[in-house]
Amino acid sequence: MSRVAPSPDNLVTVDLAAISSNLAALRALLPEGLGVAGVVKADAYGHGIVPVAGRLKTEGAEALAVALPNEGALLRRAGIQGPIMVFMGLTPEQAPLAVAHGLSPFLGVWDDFAALSQAAQAAGKQATCHLKIDTGMSRLGVTPEEALDLLERAAALPGLKIEGLASHLATSGVPGDATAQKQAQVFSSLLAEARRRGHALAGSSLEASGGVLAPPAGAPEPPGLTRLGISLYGGLPAPQSLGIAPLRTAMRFTSRLAAVRRVPAGAGVSYGHTWKAPRDTWLGVVAAGYSDGYPRHASNQAQVLIQGKPAPVRGRVCMNAIMVDLTGFDPLPQPGEEVVLLGRSGEREITADQLGEWAGTISYEITCSLGAANRRRHRS
Ligand SMILES: *Cc1c(COP(=O)(O)O)cnc(C)c1O
Repeated sequence: MSRVAPSPDNLVTVDLAAISSNLAALRALLPEGLGVAGVVKADAYGHGIVPVAGRLKTEGAEALAVALPNEGALLRRAGIQGPIMVFMGLTPEQAPLAVAHGLSPFLGVWDDFAALSQAAQAAGKQATCHLKIDTGMSRLGVTPEEALDLLERAAALPGLKIEGLASHLATSGVPGDATAQKQAQVFSSLLAEARRRGHALAGSSLEASGGVLAPPAGAPEPPGLTRLGISLYGGLPAPQSLGIAPLRTAMRFTSRLAAVRRVPAGAGVSYGHTWKAPRDTWLGVVAAGYSDGYPRHASNQAQVLIQGKPAPVRGRVCMNAIMVDLTGFDPLPQPGEEVVLLGRSGEREITADQLGEWAGTISYEITCSLGAANRRRHRS
């Protein structure tokens, strides 16, 4: 199988120092004793799983988290030690892989606990896992009503250590949100009861970035870990969490001007002519498009930065090209000139949240897409 290499014109640069700085800023918000699991699923939200995980471990992150067992195995092969949570759990066939690499899947179904216990015994090892409870996300996990019963039965299985209870907030990042508060209360009372029954569950976790930037009220039972993803990369879980912590955008995406051209008043630009030049206009043709992970929904919405100045996107984003308006640029940018589509240029910055807003999506999807499609370089 072969794949065509990504365009040499386009580059994702990941600033690992920004991730370190974000971790420190987030730690400052955490209650004493609450550890950080750095979430590096989806290739670290497009930032590169191995370099990011390595950096987070160097910075003292107490654990890491991925979505899939394969991602955890990749981290182990790269020499990463310490706890690794696996959010999507496992299929019974993946249990031996999880045991071999010492991964800690989130499980909410009896059969999966049984499969992990069996694989642990077969390997002569102790497996670790978390009991996933659905407190309101309607995604994965046992119901709160059945949680304690499943906990008792799973904890009695040979070769298995349940390190914590886990749940996930559906509406986090919004200060004072009632749904998050209700979920937190359900989770806390289950954790308190489980601990009263003698289960330590020291690695329990509820909050992601949203729960840290806007902690739900009424969560008296402190879990052991918080699971931080987007905020480590400088993105926000919700617009309402802007400004709570001084976060830095870790990803920068740059391209080049493939051409600079003048079009006459009235000329339609790009597919469907969704933009027409109101007057004679200088356009720059940027050598990136939706095949490079740039969102097509940003058509006629987004801006790019050239020489530290904003240039609006005109017409539809194409597969390999974007037209931008160079009105007001003096001197006129030349073909080959750097274009910043995400990140800083001079005094200005386009954040992943801003680009996400222009495209009707979220920072998470922006960095995943750009990171997956392009050459990537890491700066320490
Ligand atoms: C992705 C994910 C996180 C991290 O969420 P952020 O909003 O990126 O901080 C935490 N927990 C679970 C279960 C997740 O799936």
